[in-house]
Amino acid sequence: MLQGLMMNSPLLITTIMRFALLNHAGREIVSVTEDNPRHRYTYAEAFARAAQLANAFRSLGIQQGDRIATLAWNDHRHFELYYGISCSGSVCHTINPRLFPEQIHYIIEHAEDRLVFVDPVFVSVLEQLQGKLNSVESFVVLTDAEHMPETTLRNAVCYEDFIGSQAVDFDWPNLDETTASSLCYTSGTMGDPKGVLFSHRATVLHAYGISLPDVMNLGQRDCVMPVVPMFHVNAWGVPYAVPMIGAKLVLPGSQAGNGAVLYELMESEGVSFSLAVPTVWLALLEYLKQAGLQAESLKRICVGGAACPASIVERFRDDHNVYVHHAWGMTEMSPVGAYNTLKAGAKELPDHELLALQLRQGRGLFGVEMKITDDAANALPWDGKTNGALKVRGNWICSAYYKSDEAILDADGWFDTGDVATIDSEGFMQITDRSKDLVKSGGEWISSIELENTAVNHPGVAEAAVIAVAHEKWIERPLLIVVPHEDGGIEHDEMLNWFAGKVVNWWIPDDVVFVSELPHTATGKIKKSKLRMQFSDYQLPISNKH
Ligand code: ADP
Repeated sequence: MLQGLMMNSPLLITTIMRFALLNHAGREIVSVTEDNPRHRYTYAEAFARAAQLANAFRSLGIQQGDRIATLAWNDHRHFELYYGISCSGSVCHTINPRLFPEQIHYIIEHAEDRLVFVDPVFVSVLEQLQGKLNSVESFVVLTDAEHMPETTLRNAVCYEDFIGSQAVDFDWPNLDETTASSLCYTSGTMGDPKGVLFSHRATVLHAYGISLPDVMNLGQRDCVMPVVPMFHVNAWGVPYAVPMIGAKLVLPGSQAGNGAVLYELMESEGVSFSLAVPTVWLALLEYLKQAGLQAESLKRICVGGAACPASIVERFRDDHNVYVHHAWGMTEMSPVGAYNTLKAGAKELPDHELLALQLRQGRGLFGVEMKITDDAANALPWDGKTNGALKVRGNWICSAYYKSDEAILDADGWFDTGDVATIDSEGFMQITDRSKDLVKSGGEWISSIELENTAVNHPGVAEAAVIAVAHEKWIERPLLIVVPHEDGGIEHDEMLNWFAGKVVNWWIPDDVVFVSELPHTATGKIKKSKLRMQFSDYQLPISNKH
Protein backbone atom coordinates (compact mmCIF):
# COMPACT_ATOMS: atom_id res chain seq x y z
CA MET A 1 0.00 0.00 0.00
CA LEU A 2 1.25 3.48 -0.80
CA GLN A 3 0.60 5.68 2.23
CA GLY A 4 -0.49 9.28 1.73
CA LEU A 5 2.02 11.81 2.97
CA MET A 6 -0.24 14.02 5.03
CA MET A 7 -0.02 15.02 8.67
CA ASN A 8 -2.12 13.10 11.11
CA SER A 9 -3.11 15.36 13.96
CA PRO A 10 -5.66 14.01 16.43
CA LEU A 11 -9.21 15.36 16.23
CA LEU A 12 -9.60 16.80 19.72
CA ILE A 13 -12.13 19.11 21.35
CA THR A 14 -9.00 20.91 22.55
CA THR A 15 -8.29 21.93 18.95
CA ILE A 16 -11.69 23.66 18.78
CA MET A 17 -10.81 25.61 21.92
CA ARG A 18 -7.34 26.57 20.63
CA PHE A 19 -8.74 27.65 17.27
CA ALA A 20 -11.46 29.76 18.88
CA LEU A 21 -8.90 31.39 21.17
CA LEU A 22 -6.73 32.42 18.24
CA ASN A 23 -9.49 33.43 15.85
CA HIS A 24 -12.57 34.38 17.83
CA ALA A 25 -11.26 35.35 21.27
CA GLY A 26 -13.47 38.42 21.52
CA ARG A 27 -16.74 36.82 20.39
CA GLU A 28 -19.41 36.86 23.06
CA ILE A 29 -21.16 34.25 25.13
CA VAL A 30 -24.30 35.55 26.82
CA SER A 31 -26.12 33.52 29.42
CA VAL A 32 -28.91 33.55 31.95
CA THR A 33 -28.06 32.21 35.41
CA GLU A 34 -29.80 32.27 38.77
CA ASP A 35 -27.28 34.82 40.04
CA ASN A 36 -27.19 37.00 36.92
CA PRO A 37 -30.06 37.36 34.44
CA ARG A 38 -27.67 38.56 31.70
CA HIS A 39 -24.09 37.37 32.13
CA ARG A 40 -21.81 38.24 29.26
CA TYR A 41 -18.16 37.57 28.50
CA THR A 42 -15.89 36.37 25.67
CA TYR A 43 -14.56 33.04 24.45
CA ALA A 44 -11.15 34.11 25.80
CA GLU A 45 -12.59 34.48 29.29
CA ALA A 46 -14.57 31.23 29.02
CA PHE A 47 -11.51 29.20 28.07
CA ALA A 48 -9.35 30.86 30.74
CA ARG A 49 -11.91 29.64 33.28
CA ALA A 50 -11.90 26.16 31.65
CA ALA A 51 -8.14 26.15 32.34
CA GLN A 52 -8.82 27.11 35.96
CA LEU A 53 -11.17 24.14 36.19
CA ALA A 54 -8.51 21.80 34.77
CA ASN A 55 -6.02 23.08 37.37
CA ALA A 56 -8.57 22.48 40.13
CA PHE A 57 -9.11 18.90 38.89
CA ARG A 58 -5.37 18.29 38.91
CA SER A 59 -5.07 19.57 42.47
CA LEU A 60 -7.79 17.09 43.51
CA GLY A 61 -6.04 14.18 41.82
CA ILE A 62 -8.70 13.70 39.15
CA GLN A 63 -7.28 11.32 36.57
CA GLN A 64 -7.78 11.03 32.83
CA GLY A 65 -10.85 8.89 32.18
CA ASP A 66 -12.53 9.84 35.48
CA ARG A 67 -16.18 10.81 35.14
CA ILE A 68 -17.33 14.21 36.35
CA ALA A 69 -21.06 14.91 36.35
CA THR A 70 -23.11 18.02 35.67
CA LEU A 71 -26.73 18.58 36.64
CA ALA A 72 -27.25 21.95 35.04
CA TRP A 73 -29.09 24.22 32.61
CA ASN A 74 -27.52 25.92 29.60
CA ASP A 75 -25.20 28.61 30.86
CA HIS A 76 -21.61 29.83 30.69
CA ARG A 77 -20.42 27.71 33.62
CA HIS A 78 -21.78 24.57 31.98
CA PHE A 79 -19.97 25.60 28.78
CA GLU A 80 -16.69 25.94 30.72
CA LEU A 81 -17.25 22.47 32.20
CA TYR A 82 -17.71 20.96 28.72
CA TYR A 83 -14.19 22.12 27.79
CA GLY A 84 -12.42 22.03 31.18
CA ILE A 85 -13.44 18.41 31.79
CA SER A 86 -13.07 16.90 28.31
CA CYS A 87 -9.91 18.73 27.29
CA SER A 88 -8.14 17.67 30.49
CA GLY A 89 -8.88 14.05 29.55
CA SER A 90 -11.79 13.39 31.91
CA VAL A 91 -15.35 12.59 30.88
CA CYS A 92 -18.12 15.18 31.11
CA HIS A 93 -21.19 13.26 32.24
CA THR A 94 -24.25 15.44 31.66
CA ILE A 95 -27.26 14.36 33.70
CA ASN A 96 -30.82 15.25 32.88
CA PRO A 97 -32.22 16.86 36.05
CA ARG A 98 -35.76 15.97 35.00
CA LEU A 99 -35.05 12.27 35.48
CA PHE A 100 -36.69 10.60 38.44
CA PRO A 101 -34.42 10.61 41.53
CA GLU A 102 -34.05 6.80 41.29
CA GLN A 103 -32.73 7.18 37.74
CA ILE A 104 -30.29 9.93 38.76
CA HIS A 105 -29.08 7.63 41.53
CA TYR A 106 -28.74 4.75 39.06
CA ILE A 107 -26.68 6.65 36.51
CA ILE A 108 -24.35 8.40 38.98
CA GLU A 109 -23.60 5.01 40.54
CA HIS A 110 -23.25 3.38 37.13
CA ALA A 111 -20.90 6.08 35.85
CA GLU A 112 -19.03 6.24 39.21
CA ASP A 113 -18.84 10.01 39.03
CA ARG A 114 -16.18 11.52 41.33
CA LEU A 115 -17.48 15.09 41.36
CA VAL A 116 -20.92 16.50 40.67
CA PHE A 117 -21.45 20.09 39.50
CA VAL A 118 -25.00 21.13 40.29
CA ASP A 119 -27.23 24.16 39.68
CA PRO A 120 -28.61 25.65 42.95
CA VAL A 121 -32.16 24.60 41.97
CA PHE A 122 -31.21 20.91 41.90
CA VAL A 123 -29.28 20.86 45.18
CA SER A 124 -32.21 19.44 47.14
CA VAL A 125 -32.55 16.46 44.75
CA LEU A 126 -28.94 15.50 45.43
CA GLU A 127 -29.19 16.14 49.17
CA GLN A 128 -31.78 13.39 49.36
CA LEU A 129 -29.70 11.01 47.26
CA GLN A 130 -26.19 11.69 48.52
CA GLY A 131 -26.21 8.94 51.17
CA LYS A 132 -26.43 6.43 48.33
CA LEU A 133 -23.95 8.14 45.98
CA ASN A 134 -20.84 6.23 46.98
CA SER A 135 -18.45 7.39 44.28
CA VAL A 136 -19.03 11.13 44.71
CA GLU A 137 -16.30 12.87 46.72
CA SER A 138 -17.66 16.40 46.57
CA PHE A 139 -20.37 18.59 45.10
CA VAL A 140 -19.75 21.93 43.44
CA VAL A 141 -22.71 24.33 43.34
CA LEU A 142 -22.83 26.39 40.15
CA THR A 143 -22.94 29.85 41.69
CA ASP A 144 -20.82 32.39 43.56
CA ALA A 145 -20.24 32.75 47.31
CA GLU A 146 -22.93 35.41 47.64
CA HIS A 147 -25.63 33.16 46.18
CA MET A 148 -24.44 29.87 47.67
CA PRO A 149 -27.45 28.12 49.22
CA GLU A 150 -27.41 26.46 52.64
CA THR A 151 -26.68 22.84 51.91
CA THR A 152 -25.86 19.56 53.58
CA LEU A 153 -24.11 18.22 50.44
CA ARG A 154 -20.76 16.79 51.44
CA ASN A 155 -17.67 18.93 50.81
CA ALA A 156 -19.95 21.44 49.09
CA VAL A 157 -18.20 24.42 47.56
CA CYS A 158 -19.45 27.11 45.21
CA TYR A 159 -18.10 27.08 41.65
CA GLU A 160 -16.46 30.50 41.82
CA ASP A 161 -14.47 29.46 44.92
CA PHE A 162 -13.66 26.10 43.32
CA ILE A 163 -11.86 27.76 40.39
CA GLY A 164 -11.08 31.18 41.91
CA SER A 165 -7.51 30.65 43.09
CA GLN A 166 -6.37 28.58 40.09
CA ALA A 167 -4.05 29.69 37.29
CA VAL A 168 -5.71 30.74 34.01
CA ASP A 169 -3.47 28.64 31.79
CA PHE A 170 -3.11 24.91 31.60
CA ASP A 171 -0.89 22.59 29.65
CA TRP A 172 -3.66 20.67 27.89
CA PRO A 173 -2.69 17.02 27.30
CA ASN A 174 -2.17 15.75 23.78
CA LEU A 175 -4.80 13.02 23.96
CA ASP A 176 -5.44 10.16 21.61
CA GLU A 177 -8.41 11.23 19.49
CA THR A 178 -10.45 8.18 20.49
CA THR A 179 -10.30 9.23 24.18
CA ALA A 180 -13.75 9.40 25.80
CA SER A 181 -14.91 13.01 26.10
CA SER A 182 -18.49 12.94 27.36
CA LEU A 183 -21.20 10.61 28.54
CA CYS A 184 -24.96 10.89 28.20
CA TYR A 185 -27.53 8.31 29.26
CA THR A 186 -30.56 7.77 27.06
CA SER A 187 -33.66 8.49 29.06
CA GLY A 188 -34.89 4.99 28.31
CA THR A 189 -38.51 4.84 27.23
CA MET A 190 -37.96 1.17 28.20
CA GLY A 191 -35.69 -0.36 30.84
CA ASP A 192 -32.69 1.20 32.59
CA PRO A 193 -30.95 4.20 31.05
CA LYS A 194 -27.98 3.28 28.85
CA GLY A 195 -24.74 5.25 28.68
CA VAL A 196 -23.54 6.60 25.35
CA LEU A 197 -19.83 7.41 25.63
CA PHE A 198 -18.73 10.00 23.07
CA SER A 199 -15.12 10.43 21.95
CA HIS A 200 -13.13 13.53 21.00
CA ARG A 201 -12.90 12.33 17.40
CA ALA A 202 -16.64 11.67 17.06
CA THR A 203 -17.46 15.03 18.66
CA VAL A 204 -15.19 17.00 16.31
CA LEU A 205 -16.42 15.16 13.21
CA HIS A 206 -20.03 15.72 14.29
CA ALA A 207 -19.28 19.44 14.80
CA TYR A 208 -17.92 19.63 11.23
CA GLY A 209 -20.94 17.70 9.95
CA ILE A 210 -23.64 19.82 11.54
CA SER A 211 -22.01 23.11 10.51
CA LEU A 212 -22.23 22.40 6.76
CA PRO A 213 -24.36 24.74 4.60
CA ASP A 214 -27.08 22.15 3.98
CA VAL A 215 -27.18 21.33 7.68
CA MET A 216 -27.12 24.12 10.29
CA ASN A 217 -25.30 26.44 7.90
CA LEU A 218 -23.36 28.05 10.74
CA GLY A 219 -21.32 31.15 10.07
CA GLN A 220 -19.27 33.56 12.16
CA ARG A 221 -21.95 36.21 11.72
CA ASP A 222 -24.60 33.99 13.28
CA CYS A 223 -25.86 34.34 16.79
CA VAL A 224 -26.95 30.90 17.98
CA MET A 225 -29.22 30.05 20.89
CA PRO A 226 -29.48 26.36 21.76
CA VAL A 227 -32.67 26.03 23.80
CA VAL A 228 -32.22 22.28 23.62
CA PRO A 229 -30.58 21.45 26.94
CA MET A 230 -26.85 20.90 27.33
CA PHE A 231 -27.79 17.81 29.37
CA HIS A 232 -29.50 16.29 26.34
CA VAL A 233 -26.92 14.93 23.90
CA ASN A 234 -24.57 17.89 24.25
CA ALA A 235 -27.24 20.36 23.09
CA TRP A 236 -27.15 18.61 19.70
CA GLY A 237 -23.43 19.42 19.34
CA VAL A 238 -23.92 23.20 19.20
CA PRO A 239 -21.49 24.07 22.06
CA TYR A 240 -18.70 22.51 19.95
CA ALA A 241 -19.72 23.72 16.49
CA VAL A 242 -20.31 27.35 17.48
CA PRO A 243 -16.79 28.12 18.86
CA MET A 244 -15.34 26.27 15.84
CA ILE A 245 -17.19 28.72 13.61
CA GLY A 246 -16.85 31.76 15.88
CA ALA A 247 -20.54 32.60 16.10
CA LYS A 248 -22.01 34.37 19.13
CA LEU A 249 -23.56 31.99 21.66
CA VAL A 250 -26.65 32.73 23.76
CA LEU A 251 -27.51 30.32 26.58
CA PRO A 252 -30.97 30.74 28.12
CA GLY A 253 -30.35 29.00 31.48
CA SER A 254 -33.43 27.54 33.09
CA GLN A 255 -35.74 29.71 30.96
CA ALA A 256 -36.37 27.29 28.07
CA GLY A 257 -40.08 27.27 28.85
CA ASN A 258 -40.43 31.01 29.31
CA GLY A 259 -41.61 32.61 26.06
CA ALA A 260 -41.09 36.16 27.34
CA VAL A 261 -37.45 35.56 28.30
CA LEU A 262 -36.67 33.67 25.09
CA TYR A 263 -38.19 36.41 22.96
CA GLU A 264 -36.39 39.17 24.85
CA LEU A 265 -33.06 37.33 24.50
CA MET A 266 -33.62 36.78 20.79
CA GLU A 267 -34.42 40.38 20.03
CA SER A 268 -31.86 42.07 22.26
CA GLU A 269 -28.94 39.75 21.46
CA GLY A 270 -29.74 39.37 17.76
CA VAL A 271 -30.29 35.60 17.72
CA SER A 272 -30.40 34.41 14.09
CA PHE A 273 -30.62 30.65 14.65
CA SER A 274 -32.08 28.62 17.48
CA LEU A 275 -32.75 24.95 18.22
CA ALA A 276 -35.38 23.19 20.34
CA VAL A 277 -37.93 20.39 20.53
CA PRO A 278 -41.45 21.02 19.15
CA THR A 279 -43.01 21.67 22.59
CA VAL A 280 -40.75 24.70 23.14
CA TRP A 281 -41.58 26.15 19.73
CA LEU A 282 -45.33 25.64 20.18
CA ALA A 283 -45.16 27.43 23.54
CA LEU A 284 -43.14 30.30 22.07
CA LEU A 285 -45.54 30.70 19.13
CA GLU A 286 -48.44 30.82 21.56
CA TYR A 287 -46.69 33.47 23.66
CA LEU A 288 -45.90 35.60 20.60
CA LYS A 289 -49.48 35.35 19.39
CA GLN A 290 -50.98 36.34 22.72
CA ALA A 291 -48.51 39.17 23.24
CA GLY A 292 -48.98 40.34 19.63
CA LEU A 293 -45.24 40.18 18.97
CA GLN A 294 -43.16 39.31 15.94
CA ALA A 295 -39.81 37.46 15.94
CA GLU A 296 -37.72 40.03 14.04
CA SER A 297 -34.21 38.82 14.63
CA LEU A 298 -34.66 35.08 14.13
CA LYS A 299 -34.02 33.83 10.57
CA ARG A 300 -34.18 30.05 10.90
CA ILE A 301 -34.81 27.40 13.50
CA CYS A 302 -34.11 23.71 13.92
CA VAL A 303 -36.85 21.45 15.26
CA GLY A 304 -35.92 17.94 16.34
CA GLY A 305 -36.22 15.27 19.01
CA ALA A 306 -39.82 14.54 18.00
CA ALA A 307 -41.83 14.96 14.82
CA CYS A 308 -42.43 18.58 13.83
CA PRO A 309 -46.14 19.41 13.40
CA ALA A 310 -47.11 21.32 10.24
CA SER A 311 -48.43 24.20 12.33
CA ILE A 312 -44.88 25.06 13.51
CA VAL A 313 -43.63 25.36 9.93
CA GLU A 314 -46.67 27.33 8.79
CA ARG A 315 -46.92 29.72 11.71
CA PHE A 316 -43.22 30.57 11.72
CA ARG A 317 -43.33 31.05 7.94
CA ASP A 318 -46.51 33.11 7.78
CA ASP A 319 -46.40 35.10 11.03
CA HIS A 320 -42.66 35.56 11.56
CA ASN A 321 -40.86 34.94 8.26
CA VAL A 322 -38.70 32.29 9.95
CA TYR A 323 -37.61 29.16 8.06
CA VAL A 324 -38.07 25.85 9.89
CA HIS A 325 -35.58 22.99 9.43
CA HIS A 326 -36.72 19.61 10.65
CA ALA A 327 -33.95 17.35 12.00
CA TRP A 328 -33.68 13.82 13.29
CA GLY A 329 -31.25 12.00 15.49
CA MET A 330 -30.76 10.16 18.72
CA THR A 331 -28.42 10.05 21.71
CA GLU A 332 -26.60 7.11 20.13
CA MET A 333 -25.81 9.33 17.10
CA SER A 334 -24.21 12.35 18.85
CA PRO A 335 -27.15 13.07 17.93
CA VAL A 336 -27.70 14.47 14.39
CA GLY A 337 -28.39 11.94 11.62
CA ALA A 338 -30.62 13.77 9.15
CA TYR A 339 -31.44 17.42 8.48
CA ASN A 340 -34.03 18.90 6.17
CA THR A 341 -32.72 21.46 3.71
CA LEU A 342 -34.45 21.57 0.35
CA LYS A 343 -32.66 20.77 -2.89
CA ALA A 344 -32.46 22.94 -6.00
CA GLY A 345 -35.81 23.17 -7.74
CA ALA A 346 -37.95 22.33 -4.71
CA LYS A 347 -39.27 25.89 -4.51
CA GLU A 348 -41.14 25.25 -7.76
CA LEU A 349 -43.33 22.65 -6.06
CA PRO A 350 -46.96 23.46 -5.26
CA ASP A 351 -47.38 24.72 -1.67
CA HIS A 352 -48.80 21.53 -0.18
CA GLU A 353 -46.05 19.37 -1.70
CA LEU A 354 -43.39 21.78 -0.50
CA LEU A 355 -44.81 21.67 3.01
CA ALA A 356 -44.95 17.85 2.96
CA LEU A 357 -41.31 17.76 1.86
CA GLN A 358 -40.26 20.21 4.55
CA LEU A 359 -41.96 18.06 7.18
CA ARG A 360 -39.81 15.03 6.36
CA GLN A 361 -37.01 14.47 8.85
CA GLY A 362 -34.41 15.24 6.22
CA ARG A 363 -31.46 13.94 4.27
CA GLY A 364 -28.66 11.92 5.86
CA LEU A 365 -25.60 14.00 6.75
CA PHE A 366 -22.32 13.26 5.05
CA GLY A 367 -20.72 10.99 7.64
CA VAL A 368 -23.90 9.05 8.34
CA GLU A 369 -24.92 6.14 6.12
CA MET A 370 -28.62 5.29 6.25
CA LYS A 371 -30.63 2.35 4.96
CA ILE A 372 -34.06 0.82 5.52
CA THR A 373 -34.50 -2.93 5.74
CA ASP A 374 -37.24 -5.56 5.93
CA ASP A 375 -37.58 -8.16 8.71
CA ALA A 376 -34.95 -10.34 7.03
CA ALA A 377 -32.49 -7.40 6.98
CA ASN A 378 -32.73 -6.96 3.19
CA ALA A 379 -32.23 -3.40 2.01
CA LEU A 380 -35.47 -1.79 0.80
CA PRO A 381 -35.85 0.68 -2.09
CA TRP A 382 -35.63 4.45 -1.67
CA ASP A 383 -39.01 5.10 -3.27
CA GLY A 384 -40.62 7.30 -0.62
CA LYS A 385 -43.29 4.65 0.01
CA THR A 386 -41.68 1.49 1.35
CA ASN A 387 -41.37 1.38 5.13
CA GLY A 388 -38.48 -0.35 6.80
CA ALA A 389 -36.31 -0.50 9.93
CA LEU A 390 -33.99 2.51 9.79
CA LYS A 391 -30.33 1.52 10.25
CA VAL A 392 -27.28 3.76 10.42
CA ARG A 393 -23.49 3.54 10.33
CA GLY A 394 -20.85 6.22 10.75
CA ASN A 395 -18.09 7.82 12.77
CA TRP A 396 -20.30 9.56 15.33
CA ILE A 397 -22.60 6.59 16.02
CA CYS A 398 -22.11 4.50 19.12
CA SER A 399 -20.72 0.97 18.80
CA ALA A 400 -21.61 -0.21 22.34
CA TYR A 401 -23.14 1.15 25.53
CA TYR A 402 -20.92 2.06 28.44
CA LYS A 403 -20.10 -0.95 30.64
CA SER A 404 -22.44 -3.19 28.67
CA ASP A 405 -21.80 -6.49 26.87
CA GLU A 406 -24.88 -6.14 24.72
CA ALA A 407 -23.99 -6.40 21.00
CA ILE A 408 -25.78 -3.48 19.33
CA LEU A 409 -24.35 -3.66 15.81
CA ASP A 410 -25.08 -6.30 13.19
CA ALA A 411 -22.34 -8.25 11.40
CA ASP A 412 -21.83 -5.41 8.91
CA GLY A 413 -21.62 -2.76 11.60
CA TRP A 414 -25.12 -1.25 11.23
CA PHE A 415 -27.00 0.14 14.23
CA ASP A 416 -30.77 -0.35 14.29
CA THR A 417 -32.29 2.96 15.40
CA GLY A 418 -35.62 1.42 16.43
CA ASP A 419 -37.33 3.86 14.06
CA VAL A 420 -39.36 2.90 11.02
CA ALA A 421 -38.97 5.13 7.99
CA THR A 422 -39.28 5.68 4.26
CA ILE A 423 -36.56 7.26 2.13
CA ASP A 424 -37.34 8.86 -1.23
CA SER A 425 -35.20 8.84 -4.35
CA GLU A 426 -33.69 12.22 -3.40
CA GLY A 427 -32.61 10.86 -0.02
CA PHE A 428 -35.28 12.56 2.10
CA MET A 429 -36.05 10.28 5.05
CA GLN A 430 -39.38 10.32 6.81
CA ILE A 431 -39.92 8.68 10.18
CA THR A 432 -43.16 6.72 10.20
CA ASP A 433 -42.93 5.58 13.79
CA ARG A 434 -40.87 3.98 16.51
CA SER A 435 -41.02 0.27 15.68
CA LYS A 436 -42.66 -0.48 19.01
CA ASP A 437 -45.23 2.31 18.62
CA LEU A 438 -46.61 1.30 15.22
CA VAL A 439 -50.22 0.24 15.12
CA LYS A 440 -50.53 -2.98 13.11
CA SER A 441 -54.12 -3.14 11.92
CA GLY A 442 -54.95 -6.35 10.06
CA GLY A 443 -51.24 -6.78 9.38
CA GLU A 444 -50.87 -3.30 7.89
CA TRP A 445 -49.04 -0.39 9.45
CA ILE A 446 -50.65 2.77 10.71
CA SER A 447 -48.32 5.60 11.66
CA SER A 448 -49.09 6.84 15.16
CA ILE A 449 -46.90 9.89 14.47
CA GLU A 450 -48.98 10.96 11.49
CA LEU A 451 -52.22 10.59 13.45
CA GLU A 452 -50.78 12.56 16.37
CA ASN A 453 -49.62 15.35 14.08
CA THR A 454 -53.02 15.52 12.44
CA ALA A 455 -54.73 15.68 15.84
CA VAL A 456 -52.38 18.42 17.10
CA ASN A 457 -53.26 20.56 14.09
CA HIS A 458 -56.82 20.80 15.45
CA PRO A 459 -56.97 24.22 17.15
CA GLY A 460 -58.56 22.75 20.31
CA VAL A 461 -55.86 20.14 20.89
CA ALA A 462 -52.89 20.86 23.15
CA GLU A 463 -51.29 17.42 22.97
CA ALA A 464 -52.18 14.04 21.51
CA ALA A 465 -50.97 10.45 21.59
CA VAL A 466 -52.01 7.43 19.57
CA ILE A 467 -51.49 3.90 20.84
CA ALA A 468 -52.43 0.46 19.61
CA VAL A 469 -55.28 -1.23 21.47
CA ALA A 470 -56.21 -4.91 21.07
CA HIS A 471 -59.04 -5.54 18.62
CA GLU A 472 -60.86 -8.80 17.99
CA LYS A 473 -60.93 -8.56 14.23
CA TRP A 474 -57.97 -6.38 13.26
CA ILE A 475 -55.66 -7.48 16.13
CA GLU A 476 -54.78 -3.82 16.78
CA ARG A 477 -56.54 -0.54 16.17
CA PRO A 478 -55.52 3.04 17.01
CA LEU A 479 -56.85 4.79 20.10
CA LEU A 480 -56.44 8.57 20.26
CA ILE A 481 -55.73 10.19 23.62
CA VAL A 482 -56.10 13.97 23.67
CA VAL A 483 -55.28 16.78 26.07
CA PRO A 484 -57.59 19.64 25.02
CA HIS A 485 -56.57 23.30 25.39
CA GLU A 486 -57.93 24.76 28.60
CA ASP A 487 -60.59 26.75 26.81
CA GLY A 488 -61.40 24.17 24.14
CA GLY A 489 -64.42 21.92 24.59
CA ILE A 490 -63.93 19.49 21.70
CA GLU A 491 -66.70 16.98 21.14
CA HIS A 492 -65.93 13.30 20.76
CA ASP A 493 -67.31 12.95 17.20
CA GLU A 494 -65.94 16.30 16.10
CA MET A 495 -62.44 15.09 17.04
CA LEU A 496 -62.72 11.86 15.08
CA ASN A 497 -64.33 13.56 12.09
CA TRP A 498 -61.35 15.93 11.97
CA PHE A 499 -59.32 13.10 10.39
CA ALA A 500 -61.70 12.62 7.45
CA GLY A 501 -59.93 13.52 4.22
CA LYS A 502 -56.65 14.12 6.08
CA VAL A 503 -55.62 10.46 6.41
CA VAL A 504 -56.88 7.33 4.67
CA ASN A 505 -60.16 6.16 6.09
CA TRP A 506 -58.94 2.98 7.75
CA TRP A 507 -56.29 4.95 9.67
CA ILE A 508 -58.89 7.05 11.52
CA PRO A 509 -58.71 6.20 15.23
CA ASP A 510 -61.54 4.02 16.48
CA ASP A 511 -62.07 6.11 19.56
CA VAL A 512 -60.83 9.17 21.44
CA VAL A 513 -60.30 9.64 25.17
CA PHE A 514 -59.87 13.12 26.66
CA VAL A 515 -57.41 13.44 29.55
CA SER A 516 -55.97 16.39 31.48
CA GLU A 517 -52.35 15.36 30.95
CA LEU A 518 -50.13 12.75 29.30
CA PRO A 519 -47.18 10.98 30.94
CA HIS A 520 -43.77 12.17 29.69
CA THR A 521 -40.22 10.88 29.77
CA ALA A 522 -37.50 13.07 31.21
CA THR A 523 -36.75 14.38 27.72
CA GLY A 524 -40.33 15.49 27.27
CA LYS A 525 -41.44 12.64 25.01
CA ILE A 526 -44.80 11.04 25.54
CA LYS A 527 -44.33 7.85 27.53
CA LYS A 528 -46.31 5.47 25.36
CA SER A 529 -45.30 2.40 27.38
CA LYS A 530 -47.21 3.86 30.32
CA LEU A 531 -50.23 4.73 28.18
CA ARG A 532 -50.24 1.22 26.73
CA MET A 533 -50.34 -0.18 30.27
CA GLN A 534 -53.01 2.27 31.36
CA PHE A 535 -55.28 1.47 28.41
CA SER A 536 -54.43 -2.23 28.05
CA ASP A 537 -58.01 -3.31 28.80
CA TYR A 538 -59.63 -0.54 26.79
CA GLN A 539 -62.69 -1.74 24.90
CA LEU A 540 -62.94 -0.10 21.49
CA PRO A 541 -66.33 0.37 19.89
CA ILE A 542 -67.01 -2.16 17.11
CA SER A 543 -65.25 -0.89 13.99
CA ASN A 544 -65.80 -1.72 10.36
CA LYS A 545 -62.87 0.30 9.14
CA HIS A 546 -60.07 -1.17 7.05
P1 ADP B 1 -34.26 9.42 24.39
O1 ADP B 1 -33.41 9.83 25.49
O2 ADP B 1 -35.74 9.67 24.56
O3 ADP B 1 -33.93 8.08 23.77
P2 ADP B 1 -33.25 10.50 21.99
O4 ADP B 1 -33.06 11.92 21.63
O5 ADP B 1 -32.08 9.62 21.92
O6 ADP B 1 -33.88 10.53 23.36
O7 ADP B 1 -34.45 9.89 21.14
C1 ADP B 1 -34.23 9.50 19.83
C2 ADP B 1 -35.55 9.17 19.17
O8 ADP B 1 -36.40 10.31 19.13
C3 ADP B 1 -35.40 8.76 17.75
O9 ADP B 1 -35.02 7.40 17.62
C4 ADP B 1 -36.79 9.03 17.20
O10 ADP B 1 -37.70 8.00 17.49
C5 ADP B 1 -37.21 10.27 17.96
N1 ADP B 1 -36.98 11.44 17.13
C6 ADP B 1 -35.93 12.29 17.15
N2 ADP B 1 -36.10 13.27 16.25
C7 ADP B 1 -37.27 13.05 15.63
C8 ADP B 1 -37.99 13.70 14.58
N3 ADP B 1 -37.55 14.81 14.01
N4 ADP B 1 -39.17 13.15 14.20
C9 ADP B 1 -39.65 12.04 14.77
N5 ADP B 1 -39.01 11.38 15.76
C10 ADP B 1 -37.84 11.87 16.18
